[in-house]
Amino acid sequence: MAVVNEHHSPDHAFAGNTYKGRCFCGAVQIAVTGEPAAVGYCHCESCRSWSAAPVNAFTLWKPDAVKVTRGAENVGAFNKTPTSTRKWCKSCGGHLFTEHPLWGVTDVYAATIAEFPFKPGLHVNYQETRLRMHDGLPKMKDMPKEMGGSGITLPD
Ligand SMILES: [Zn+2]
Ligand SMILES: [Zn+2]
Repeated sequence: MAVVNEHHSPDHAFAGNTYKGRCFCGAVQIAVTGEPAAVGYCHCESCRSWSAAPVNAFTLWKPDAVKVTRGAENVGAFNKTPTSTRKWCKSCGGHLFTEHPLWGVTDVYAATIAEFPFKPGLHVNYQETRLRMHDGLPKMKDMPKEMGGSGITLPD
């Protein structure tokens, strides 16, 4: 599976791939199809607090590429701000994905779709980091310009 995501050509035969995912207990199952818009790590305070982890491994998809295939009635939602609708399993509390309607993307946590070949391309909100990761990838101070950020990068 690891070779799949090395092909980024939009007309590549792998473009229709589907990756299945699940919550911690398995009551909720999801599927994502195609290729993500971006893959990386977010270091922001919101991601760290919500995930109870020092960094969030994200995969961003067009909203209609993400489907709940089982247990939709078990999906809870929480909005702290209008930019993020956080979805989780009401049985186990396991996190599923976060919808960002203003940006037109859905962040599916990499750990939720274990079979997706995670190949990070950048770090975002690195100015808020609590876990420096010297991996040579671009470190965005906040967000890319196309998502309303400064587009400034910080040293690795
Ligand atoms: Zn669950
Ligand atoms: Zn974040």
